[in-house]
Amino acid sequence: SGDSHAQSGDVIFPNLPALFQGHPDVHLRTGIMNASRAANNHEADAEQAFFVADLSQVYRQHQRWKSCLPEIQPFYAIKCNPDPYVLRLLAALGAGFDCASLNEISQVLNLGGVDPSRIIFANPCKAVSFIRNAGKMGVDMMTFDNADELYKIARSHPRAKLVIRILTDDSKSVCQFGIKFGAPLDVVPGLLAKAKELNLDVVGVSFHVGSGCYDPSVYRDAIMRARSVFNMGKELGFEFNLLDVGGGFEDALFEKAAGYLREAIDDYFPERQHIKIIAEPGRFYVSKAFRLAAHIIARRAPLDGSAPPLPEDADQPRVMYYINDGVYGAFNCILFDHKVVHPYVLSMGGSFHVAASEAKHVSSVWGPTCDSIDCVSPKTVLPAGLQVGDWLGFDDMGAYTVCAASQFNGFEVSNVIYTAGGMGASEVRNALKAFAADGHGL
Ligand code: PLP
Repeated sequence: SGDSHAQSGDVIFPNLPALFQGHPDVHLRTGIMNASRAANNHEADAEQAFFVADLSQVYRQHQRWKSCLPEIQPFYAIKCNPDPYVLRLLAALGAGFDCASLNEISQVLNLGGVDPSRIIFANPCKAVSFIRNAGKMGVDMMTFDNADELYKIARSHPRAKLVIRILTDDSKSVCQFGIKFGAPLDVVPGLLAKAKELNLDVVGVSFHVGSGCYDPSVYRDAIMRARSVFNMGKELGFEFNLLDVGGGFEDALFEKAAGYLREAIDDYFPERQHIKIIAEPGRFYVSKAFRLAAHIIARRAPLDGSAPPLPEDADQPRVMYYINDGVYGAFNCILFDHKVVHPYVLSMGGSFHVAASEAKHVSSVWGPTCDSIDCVSPKTVLPAGLQVGDWLGFDDMGAYTVCAASQFNGFEVSNVIYTAGGMGASEVRNALKAFAADGHGL
């Protein structure tokens, strides 16, 4: 299985034919069958949990982006999932990248074929060494939201193209950033005047409505605020040419959000021939593309397998399942990203078919560490016959999962198996091949 697994930072191009056969379901099944076979032979790591990443899903999201927001160039927020093959695919498809640190910048530039102008250093509070080294690497575009940042940039990268990050209404988002970042509109004129005084070049405005935005109408208010900052810039002698509408795009609400954005941009920026519009989507691209298969390694159930433990309340979990990935691993999204996961049965008793008539129990699902915070699902309904050795599946595991996984208690971060099944598979193959061949992609 070694060549089908990639570690972050691995720059060896994969053996395409081996990795891109079939649909993600096939990969899930073969992964489970291989693991089960290995488990019977008592091989190490036999039951290890694994992701299946469907790169054609990333491709389809890109097509969806282009058809809904053709004017806006996506700069993928790599913090969301810096998977090397996702990055290569998006590089090949012509996306830009939002980097938060020097390591992220290096990772993108090490792909080869990505010009530093396709990177925005979108962290308003950076270490001086990061600013200086970004400049040395040719990355000029960076955000700021405070005066100290301007002094630091004036000293360490005076040619930078600055983007002022403004505060917007993030009250409708799952992860709110306004408490930490974003200049309120009343301090913007002072900041822009300071930038002028320091001879710095401010080229545009950015905002972030918060990650996981469930009220896409907030984009309209954000664009209105950006417009007023463009006007403030003009008054101070700047000619802004960049509008960065940030991230926060939720898969289910994407078309709606795109509609609000298009309309607001038309209303507030009717004259925009000289304005480049970019965005920093993260979860939109990868959330659905990764699924996780986890193995039930232990179970706490009534001795005879039937009588409910105390309390005898049908609503309370009767059975506790322990799986081999948890909140210190891929499921850190439960703690950091407020995610609620819904386990389902992938295989039971060696079969991939679970009869709908199968009796069910209210159950709970736990991670493998010795910490009781390591709870994946406090209450879920699962078949009563589920046992140690069976496999659970989790969908939508691509965003803010593997990137923040730790090895607490000595458990390894789950590997990724790649596929490009379904619609877009051949485009993915061609894009990656072209990127590998000449470093430029499509
Ligand atoms: N841009 C910035 C500056 C961010 O901090 C984040 C997320 O933390 C993103 C973009 C990506 O957000 P999302 O994944 O919600 O699209």
